Order: sequence, then C-alpha cells, then structure tokens
Amino acid sequence: MQSHAKVVIVGGGMMGVGLLYHLAEEGWTDVVLIEKGELTSGSTWHAAGQCPSFIGNYNMAKIHHYSNTLYPRLEEITGLPAGWHGCGGIRLATTQKEVDWFRHVSGFSANIGFHMEVIGPERIRELNPWLKTDGILAGAYTSMDGHVDPSSACNAMAAGARQMGATIIRRNRVSDIKLLPNGEFEVVTERGNITCEHVVNAGGCYAREVGGWVGVDTPITNMEHQFLVTEPLEEFKGQERELPVMRDPATAGYYRQEQNAGLVGIYEHYGSREAWASRGGSPEWSAENELFEGDIDRIAPWLEKALERMPIFANAGIKRVINGAIPHTPDGNPLVGPAHGLRNFWQCCGSSIGIAQGAGCGKFLAQWMVHGDCEINMHSVDPRRFGSYADADYTRAKSFDDYHNMFETPLPGREIKAARRNRVTPLFDTLKSKGAVYTEVFGWERPKWFSLDGRKEELGYRHGNIFDVVAAECRAVRERVGIMDLSSFAKFDVTGAGAEALLDGLTANKLPKKAGGINLTHVLSENGRIEGEWTITRLADDRFYVLSGAGTERIALDQLRRAAGADVSISNVTDEYGMLVVAGPKARDVLAPLTDADLTNAGFRWLSGQEITIAGVPVRALRVTYVGELGWELHAPMARLGALYEAIRAAGEPHGIADFGAYAVNALRMEKGYRGFGAELTNEITLIEAGCERFYAPEKGDFQGRNATETVRKAGIGTRLVYGEVAATDCDIHGGEAVMQGDKVVGVCTSGGYGHATGKSLAFAYVDPDATDGLEVLVLGERRALTLHDAPVWDAANERQKA
Ligand SMILES: Cc1cc2nc3c(=O)[nH]c(=O)nc-3n(C[C@H](O)[C@H](O)[C@H](O)COP(=O)(O)OP(=O)(O)OC[C@H]3O[C@@H](n4cnc5c(N)ncnc54)[C@H](O)[C@@H]3O)c2cc1C
Repeated sequence: MQSHAKVVIVGGGMMGVGLLYHLAEEGWTDVVLIEKGELTSGSTWHAAGQCPSFIGNYNMAKIHHYSNTLYPRLEEITGLPAGWHGCGGIRLATTQKEVDWFRHVSGFSANIGFHMEVIGPERIRELNPWLKTDGILAGAYTSMDGHVDPSSACNAMAAGARQMGATIIRRNRVSDIKLLPNGEFEVVTERGNITCEHVVNAGGCYAREVGGWVGVDTPITNMEHQFLVTEPLEEFKGQERELPVMRDPATAGYYRQEQNAGLVGIYEHYGSREAWASRGGSPEWSAENELFEGDIDRIAPWLEKALERMPIFANAGIKRVINGAIPHTPDGNPLVGPAHGLRNFWQCCGSSIGIAQGAGCGKFLAQWMVHGDCEINMHSVDPRRFGSYADADYTRAKSFDDYHNMFETPLPGREIKAARRNRVTPLFDTLKSKGAVYTEVFGWERPKWFSLDGRKEELGYRHGNIFDVVAAECRAVRERVGIMDLSSFAKFDVTGAGAEALLDGLTANKLPKKAGGINLTHVLSENGRIEGEWTITRLADDRFYVLSGAGTERIALDQLRRAAGADVSISNVTDEYGMLVVAGPKARDVLAPLTDADLTNAGFRWLSGQEITIAGVPVRALRVTYVGELGWELHAPMARLGALYEAIRAAGEPHGIADFGAYAVNALRMEKGYRGFGAELTNEITLIEAGCERFYAPEKGDFQGRNATETVRKAGIGTRLVYGEVAATDCDIHGGEAVMQGDKVVGVCTSGGYGHATGKSLAFAYVDPDATDGLEVLVLGERRALTLHDAPVWDAANERQKA
C-alpha cells in the first residue's frame, strides 16, 4: 500500500465512491479510497435505488438532478452497466396544500432543468393503470428520474474513477486517524499507515466513530428502514413500459415495479428503532452486508394503505423483506463539506437518500475541495450548520422525527417539535407567556410571531390566519416602536495587535477607522464568492466586535481562527451576550429616559456603536437595524437581558411598544431591499453579481477574494440580482420560483415577502444580465409580471434610520 496520498476517503459506499469519481474527474487522481469490506457492503447494496428529482429543497434538488443525469450515462462513460431504469416518478396529493407545494417545486424544476408536471387523476391512471386514484387530487410527475441498481451504479463509478487513475483498496479497515504537527493526517489501517493532505469521512453508519477519532462531531443516527418485494405478478409480464415510482404520503412510503414484482417501502411514523440500538447505536466493525430481521407488524398500518392503492400487490405473496440500516441527520440533509475546527477534514456522510444523492454530493464536494467553493449553494448540506448543541440526544430525537416524517409536506411555517429548547435566552418564558411562537435557528429559539389571542398558524403557501397578526407587528415597527429578542446572532470579540490586519485581510469592505464605527462587510472565497456577511464594530484601536448570522457561528469561527496569527485573540461570545432590537420612530423616546448617553444624532450617529448603560445594564449599543427604521441593537450580558427587556417594555408602554418576530423582520427588510445571507448572498455569487459594490473596497489593498472579484468586475457578470414586485395576491414569493422571459427561464427568485406598509408583494431574483424587460415569475403555477425597482420601496434615502 502506498504511504502517502493527496486524499484518503474512508468508506466505499455510494457517497465515498461518488466523491472518488468526481475528484478524479476534477484531476485529483492521487486519491485512495479505503473500504473495510467490499464496495457497497454498508447501506448501499441493500437500497431500493430510487432517485427522485422531486425534493422540496432547491439546492438538494440540484444535487439529485445531477445524479439523475449521470447514472443513465455511466455505462457509456465507464463500460459497466449501472442498472438505470428511467421510469419516472409520481408523488400523489390528496389536499390542495400539497398541490400548492407541487406547483412551487415545479418552479424549481424549470430552473434546474428537470421535467416536472402537475397531472390529474386521469393521466396518473394512464401512467399507472393499477393505481386506485380515489381521493387523489393531483400527482407531481417527474419523467426524467427513476431508480438505479445501487451496487451496479456504485461499481460503475468506481471503475470510472480507477480508469481516471484513482485507487481503491478493499478489505482494509481504517482504525484511527491522527492529525500530524505539519497539518497532514496519518490514517491508520490494517495494512499499514498512510499520510495524506485531506481525509474524507464517508463512513456511512460508522461516520460518527470515524469523525470521533479527530474530535469532529458527526450528528447522525442510524435507523432501520424496510421495504418488501412481492412474488412476481402476472399483470407485469410482457408490459412495454415500466410503471413510474409512486410516492404516497398517505402510505408514508413508496411503491414501484421491481422487474415483474412489486416493491413497497414504508417510513413508519412510530416505533422505528435505531439500528444496532442494543449495541450503542453503531454497527460492529465486523458487520458487512448486514440485514436485520423483517418486522412487517411495525409497518402494517401503512402497508395496508399501500395495498389499497395498488390492489394487485395485495394478491401477491411477499417474497422477501429488506430491513437495513440508514443514517439520518437532524434535518434530513447529508453532511457534505468541511468539518468544523479542522483544516482539510471533510464530511461526506449522513445521507438517508444516498443513492439519489451520491453522485451529486460527490460532484459538488469535489468542486469544493479542488477549487475552494462550488457552483451551487451548499449551506443546506454544510456540516457546520450544526453546532455543539447537536449532541447524541438531540440528534436521536430529531433524526427519529425526520425518519417518521419523510413523507410529510414541508409547508412554509412548519416547525419540527422534537428536541427543542436547546439554546434559549432568559426571556424565553416571558415571551412565550406573551404568545411568542418560536422557530429554531442553529439550536436557538427565535420568536417568529406573537399569538396574542392564542391562535395557531395555518401552514401553507398562501396568506393564512396570521397574515394580519404579522401586519400589526410590522405596523408597530413602522409607526411606533417594536422590540425583538435577536440574541441568536453569532458574536465574536477579536482583539490584539493583529486584530485589524486579520479582519482587513479577511473582508472586502474597509474597516471602520475610528472607535465607534460600524461597517457591513463580506468574507469572500479565493474565487471571490460570498462566504460570510459580518457587521464589524470597532470598539477601540485593537478591539473589534464581529457579528455574523446565527447559522454561521461555526463557519465564521473557522474563518477567523484559520487566518489568525499569535497576535490576535478570538473569543466566541455568542452565549455571553443577548441582543434586543428596539426599532421604530419612537425608539429614541423610549430609550432616552433609560440612559445618560446622548442618543441624539449629534451624540450617537447612525451606523455607530457605543458602550453605554441602559436601565443600569451595560450594553454595546449599535445604531443599526435590519428593518429600516430609527433603532438600536442592544447587546447586553445574557444574564441581564430580562432586566433590560422589562425596563424597555415599561418605558415603551406609553409609546405603544410591541413585540415582533422573524416574520415581521422578513417583511420589513424586503421593503427596505436588504439582501439576506444564505438567500441572496451565497457561495455561488460574487459581490458584483449581488449588486454589493458599495461594500467592496479594492482600493484598500489585498484581501481574500479581491483578485477574483476584480476579474469578474472587468470580465462582466453571468447573473445579476434584481429587486422588484409582482402583483399582490393571496400568495407571495418564497424563493425558488422561476423567472421567465417569454418561454425562456432566465432566472430564479431567491426570497420574497409581502410589505405590509407598502402593500407590495416583493422579490429578489438572480436573472440573466441582459434580461431586463418582460420578466414574469412563475408563482404556484401562475405567471405574474415582475416589475423591477432600482431602489427600495421603503425610505430609499434612509431618512427614517437617520432621523
Ligand atoms: C431498506 C433501505 C432502502 C433504501 N432505499 C433507498 C432508495 O431507494 N434511494 C436512496 O437514495 N437511498 C435509499 N436508502 C438509503 C441508502 O442506502 C443510503 O443513504 C446510502 O447507501 C448511504 O451511502 P453511504 O456511502 O453514505 O454509506 P454506506 O453504503 O454504508 O458506505 C459506507 C462504507 O464505509 C465503510 N467504512 C466505514 N468505516 C470504515 C472504516 N473505518 N474503514 C474502512 N471502511 C469503512 C463501510 O464498510 C461502508 O461500506 C435505503 C436504505 C435502506 C435501509
């Protein structure tokens, strides 16, 4: 065995092999994949092999789509059959809200490039004459997907990787990984040790153990999942066309044709056990091609429903039951990207739909490893989207929930109830007693809206029963004053003689020169793409307070620590500081009586920060808001947040102060035309494309991503961000909708919302730079003209913030 490689991949399932193939394709061939058994002998070999194009997350759909375009070509590329069945798929809907979701996803499809059509019961029966369509309103028909033989596809990719020069070593277990002083890794195996620059954890159900060797959290839980195959059916013999794969929320599962037999798989809603639970939730190292005993009773209630839909299956006996292990993560998306805290250790695991995702994850992770970033937005798979709160209990509870609800329709507003209250501020119960409805962000509970009369949100794509409630919260901020607990921001103290140089080299905007200055700035990749958005306040010559979005706490920490020298100290003070936003025309009137500080424009200008005392509580007060009104962010010691809130509420009472939540923030920032990190600002985009040149200061000298951004600026952009409105109806833009010019798809919406103060339904979208007029957005299947605006529809001159 060779003693050194550029990359070692641990694990030879669909995920590891998918990566190996694409690294080789990118030109990295000094790559060794090590598998303890045979390729596919973990979860891959026993999978049912379905590869749906239809998935609710826009970026995941790009990953799936890529796999579905590679698998049919694998035989031609590698010479080995991949066992692709391009039979298409149909997901069934029995409610109007599910149909809305289909229409929403069909917006993605146009954009991503797969065919999807919302079809009625008659067409469904044409495609599957054996299906009873009683109660079915529609189907989401995707004609370019199907299923693949997992072992054949995996082996074909392995052959392709070998043909390009990559190495696969089978029957060799990795037993340890050590970080060496020079930053390389030593991978300890049964057949000797191998040092390498990069390690990839593609260990499937063993991934938690593999990550654990180098102290990397890998939040996965191994579950059991079953499908059964019937005896052959006479009805299927001699059929010209294979049935599409059916996905049916009422049966919590899928059913399809398997050669001449039927195949039914169920995600039962209760009682699913952690695989190997009796052995601590992890497989033994000796496990290979392992299956568990079939347990039909566990899936019986849903199986019965599937048989009612496909009565011909009921007449056939069961030939075999496959009960195998499947890893799940807390949010159901795989872990694909850099591990937190360790350079060049990558995760490529945690996929519960790994056959559909293997090639796509491999493709985009290979881009990330080789080029430093990739062409699609990877935030929903980045392993650093979870923090240390995602411990074993959290992961188990959330993963169970994810498994049980695999077939639930992910309507906007849906909250996962399992494993909540992980990161709360001292205000949690106070706000809850006032009606706060929380959403979860990076483990934090963040108020989403306030239910003042006990009503519960009706979920859906259209305006529902809390539309007016959010309108009232927005009105309070626009007309009076609102208060919100936004403690979830990631917060860092960056101090020391080298602090200024560190931040200057990492970010694209000028740093504030004087103490008290605040600047919004972005962290770019070497390719100039946006990897972070920070608000930096200079507290003193050598003291900076850096704020980043809640979901980027680990990412920002990695960015800071990796670039920092010995003359900089970085403290993560996220949990030490709570933060209240106080915003609205009356904000100054509310706060002034509570402080000795001069809050007038002369004493406290817009876009500046001061360390002051409010109601006896020491705060870092920043005169910035994301809602476009006079206001302050008040960062206070977490333990004093309750006292600060109560004092401000009391002072605000005569001014009509009201609590507001994240729904209102979205509506308000859309009116103000503020871009959102993760939506408009992503790793696919440069500052020039995002229209953020005012935050870009090439004249300040060299910084990360500057050269690449300059190249884009000179060469011209491939896409540009636009802001505008569509006719206001009962539904707004959610992100993912296609932008059309005639019959051509020319862009995609990134986010949107209804502006309650302006009565406008607003949107951001990336479009072809020369597509300037005649633009329409496909909203739930209907075209709506997109009118572009050059300036925010609310207070374009920032007069209200400067008031
Ligand atoms: C019944 C069932 C049906 C399914 N149906 C589908 C489906 O229709 N569509 C779909 O997309 N997905 C399906 N899945 C899920 C799919 O099987 C998994 O998502 C996928 O196989 C995961 O691939 P992987 O490469 O991450 O893991 P694995 O295939 O488990 O590969 C990991 C490999 O790493 C090796 N390994 C681990 N540790 C070490 C070590 N220390 N040294 C060396 N080697 C090591 C293991 O031996 C293993 O081969 C199904 C799962 C089940 C249980």
